[in-house]
Amino acid sequence: MNRRDLLKSAFGLSAGLVGMSALKPLYASDGLAFKADPMYDVPATKVTDRCYYILAQDPEPSPENHAFFNNPGFIVTSEGVVVVDTGSSVQIGEMVLRQIKKVTDKPVVAVINTHYHGDHFLGNHAFIEANPKVEILSHQATIDNIKNGGGEFWHGFMQRNSNNGISGTVVTLPNKVLNGGETLKFGDTTVKIHQFGKAHTECDLIVEVVEDKTIFLGDTAMRRVANMADGSFVGTIDTMKKARDLGGKNYILGHGPHDGVSICDDMQAFCENIYNSAAKYYDEGLSDFEMKPKIMAQPFMKDVASSWPGYESTVGKFIAVAVQEVEQNMF
Ligand SMILES: [Zn+2]
Repeated sequence: MNRRDLLKSAFGLSAGLVGMSALKPLYASDGLAFKADPMYDVPATKVTDRCYYILAQDPEPSPENHAFFNNPGFIVTSEGVVVVDTGSSVQIGEMVLRQIKKVTDKPVVAVINTHYHGDHFLGNHAFIEANPKVEILSHQATIDNIKNGGGEFWHGFMQRNSNNGISGTVVTLPNKVLNGGETLKFGDTTVKIHQFGKAHTECDLIVEVVEDKTIFLGDTAMRRVANMADGSFVGTIDTMKKARDLGGKNYILGHGPHDGVSICDDMQAFCENIYNSAAKYYDEGLSDFEMKPKIMAQPFMKDVASSWPGYESTVGKFIAVAVQEVEQNMF
């Protein structure tokens, strides 16, 4: 799709693009898009012969990092490249395409959005622009969320946090649905899609590259304390058990460096520490701010989780969300 077509689409001629009202002011009246500066190159990290990701250096979006704070990934197959999450903007999507070109001449044949948070789908625009026929796959609940306000919310969030560094980005919906349970063949590569229930969101997709024993976890696991508002502690604990059972050798995350299966252990321990303690202290009649110092004093929290980005500022919010979940699970 060229820019004119894209703009026409953005003004309502295509069902594939949403968030128009929020996007209109970003374009000059002569029909030319004002586009923020390109994203600087961040080289891809090679995990296996097929699996790569681009490691964000910062845990949060900022004007300096152009709102680049998550890890887009890609899988090089004999049939073409499969991208897992596209970053926070068209500029970051274009940067991902440049890094892919350094590794392979093959075209991008598919894009997977693991969930509906903006750092995982706003870069879709770049891939549709490079290849209007590219398949963008996600869970139906991801598509619904982006359509029903999520796209506009995350576009605004990234603009505010990057000093309008994502200008020119058009919210671009996935165009094909995955439910979890699918096995996709891309030439020599088998990609299994898993959905283990509500974890980081109600619709996280986990992407397993069978031949390389490598698993893209999306945001279901991270050594970072950021956002549990759409998630579930009990569901994350269950998802970590299932992710561990996949028997991966490498686990690639939406945020932070990749690792072995210990990432599942850490995420499970983190959620168990918070949720089980919240349940216990709730029974004892404590409020969330009374239980916070007790939970923070537990060995795993003190020795391991306290070094994770966002811990000091956000762990209290996580405890409050856990208390809500404890209350919900009583009925
Ligand atoms: Zn997320």
